[in-house]
Amino acid sequence: MLSVENLKVKYGNIEALHGISFHVNEGEVVTLIGANGAGKSTTLMSVARLPPPEGPRVTEGEVLFQGKNLLKTPAHEVVSKLKMALCPEGRHIFGNLTVMENLKLATYSRNPGENLEAEYRHIFDLFPRLHERRHQRSESLSGGEQQMLAVSRALMTGCKFLMLDEPSMGLAPLLMYDMFRALKRLNQGGMTILLVEQNAKLALQFAHRAYVLDTGAIRLEGPCSELMDHPDIKKAYLGG
Ligand code: ATP
Repeated sequence: MLSVENLKVKYGNIEALHGISFHVNEGEVVTLIGANGAGKSTTLMSVARLPPPEGPRVTEGEVLFQGKNLLKTPAHEVVSKLKMALCPEGRHIFGNLTVMENLKLATYSRNPGENLEAEYRHIFDLFPRLHERRHQRSESLSGGEQQMLAVSRALMTGCKFLMLDEPSMGLAPLLMYDMFRALKRLNQGGMTILLVEQNAKLALQFAHRAYVLDTGAIRLEGPCSELMDHPDIKKAYLGG
């Protein structure tokens, strides 16, 4: 579904990704793990085509999504036509709007007249707390509820390919497991997921395959079941 070849990315004159290659098959959950500053968020932003100055600048490489050259696709079409969505690190929800208003904003690129009732029901089924709080201003939600809203907002774009940047960040353990249970249900329903996670143990338990990023390069890759037993991974990411 997604194929990235020799991707090189710069911020200003500094290269943050030094020619990485990876792929995601339809229906898979693939995770990128690595230490702080390894280039995980940069990879997601480059694939989502977040334009400079906020985002990184691709200098070389190829990104194909369902056979289409993503680097030549206007950024807004990535969401509306290719049906890819990024749930960014730090949530970036609109705090002065209610839960419903945040969700509705995400539907701006949908066809007018499209009936979205079933999708709202699906989201409130995945995250019942959001239903209880649907008329509440988002800034008054707990951190975990805001994270659920950020994921739900990405889903309301109607995406088929979901990129998640640190969905467990700041969540208490119970909410973290709720979040990953919901993500599992989404994947079982057919959603392809590219996940960036600091919590390598959680990510390796959840995903099918993983790539390990280290200072802008991919050092290891493989099925999660194999990587979990890899001595370097155990030592660096799984507490020995
Ligand atoms: P973290 O887990 O801390 O979010 P990460 O693996 O997602 O780390 P990135 O945020 O992609 O790493 O950063 C990769 C490199 O690019 C780092 O050296 C970082 O300092 C640099 N970088 C990231 N964003 C910018 C920016 N806007 N301007 C300049 N350099 C940046």
